[in-house]
Order: sequence, then structure tokens, then C-alpha cells
Amino acid sequence: MIDNLNHILIRIENACKKAHRDPKEVRLLMATKTVSADHIKLAINHNQRLIGENKVQEIKEKYEALKSIKHEKHFIGHLQTNKVKELIRYDVDCIQSLDRLKLAYKLQNRLDYEDKTMDAYLQFNTSYENSKFGMNPENAISFAKEIQQLDRINIKGLMTIGLFSAKAEKVRACFKLLNQIQTQLFDHGHSVHDLSMGMSGDLEITIEEGSTMVRVGTAIFGKREYPDSYYWNEDQ
Ligand SMILES: *Cc1c(COP(=O)(O)O)cnc(C)c1O
Repeated sequence: MIDNLNHILIRIENACKKAHRDPKEVRLLMATKTVSADHIKLAINHNQRLIGENKVQEIKEKYEALKSIKHEKHFIGHLQTNKVKELIRYDVDCIQSLDRLKLAYKLQNRLDYEDKTMDAYLQFNTSYENSKFGMNPENAISFAKEIQQLDRINIKGLMTIGLFSAKAEKVRACFKLLNQIQTQLFDHGHSVHDLSMGMSGDLEITIEEGSTMVRVGTAIFGKREYPDSYYWNEDQ
């Protein structure tokens, strides 16, 4: 696993070189769904501080084991509104999958009640597939405007999951679109600096397209038991 991790860091560095970017601009988030707390600890001790989980239940299960080790935790799965309370309880630093207003209002209310704040990325469905979550890119401005008014939620950036396809140009179009949404939102005064895009299979393309965070699971921890869509949906 540590070899895999080192290999990913080299891939990121090489992609940055190729794109004439500073490797310091691109953070690695380790997507740790299905990975045991012990394995996560090893990776964190290898100087990687940022993990992402897809299910509140898993965060809960690993919480005690990881509590004493310094790390940052992002939520990257599709969140049901009835899980908001727990998301806050287990010290999630950032929700990257803010994909609808109903969820934002629920989050705001609960954070307000607990006198806390949370960072957030707005998730967009840049591939327009029904299987993928995220806001419709056409609604980006009104979505951001509404959320901007919620004082407990700090919008830090944007997130997307690209198309899974062998056609590199179609995959790239998703990431270009997220980049365009960012420009649009910058023009409207939103500080959405972070672009979370890129996974094990497509991180090089996203770095060319301006990604500031890649989320890598399989290439570090190995294959998972179920297809990805299983982990995106909290219902399952
Ligand atoms: C699992 C997951 C990843 C990592 O995917 P890999 O292909 O395993 O690198 C990234 N983002 C999200 C939202 C995920 O659910």
C-alpha cells in the first residue's frame, strides 16, 4: 500500500510537471471507503493527512480508532438529510458533496443549533448521467447564491465525478465544464478556489484541467467489492 501511495505521489508530480504546475497546488485526498482504520492509520502516518469517506456509517465505525491521530476528513458521498446530525457529530471538516438546496438548509440549521461551521464544495453533475449526483451546471449561479447566504457553510470550491469512459476527450469535457463553472462563479464574486476532480483512472487529465485536489482510492488501497455507484448512495 505504501508503494502504491508513493506511486500516486509520483503520478501527481509528473502530471504537474507536464502541465507546468506546482505540485504543491494539488492535494491528494485518500478515498478510504471500505478501508480499515488500521490501513488508514498507516497511510496517515506516511504523511498523508486528508481522507474522504462516502458513508456516515463508516465514519462512525472508524471514528474511535482514528480520533487520536491528526487528520482531516471530508465527506464525498451522497448524503441523506437525516444523516446531517451525525455528519457534524463525527467531526467532518468538509462536505464535498453539497448537491441540493434541501441538504444545504438542513446543514445550516443543524450547524447553527450546534454553533459550528463547516466547509463545503458544491458538487456538479458534469457528465449529465442519471447515475451521478450533483447539481445541474445550468443552475450553478442561483445555487451558489442561495448557499452563500447560509452563514454556517463556507463554500471553498467545487467537486465533480467525471464520466467513466475510455474516450478521454469526453472525460476531459466534464472537467473543463467544472473549470468553466468556477470562472462563472468567480465572476459573480464567489470564492470557489478548490477544484476537487480526478480519481485513480483520470487524475492526469484533471491536473491538466486545473484540479487542486485528486481523490484516489483504488490505486492506493486496491479494488473494492462493489461498483462505485453502490458507495455513492447512502440508501444502500
Ligand atoms: C471512491 C471514490 C473516489 C476514488 O475512486 P477510485 O477510482 O477508487 O480512485 C473518488 N471520488 C468519489 C466521490 C468516490 O466515491
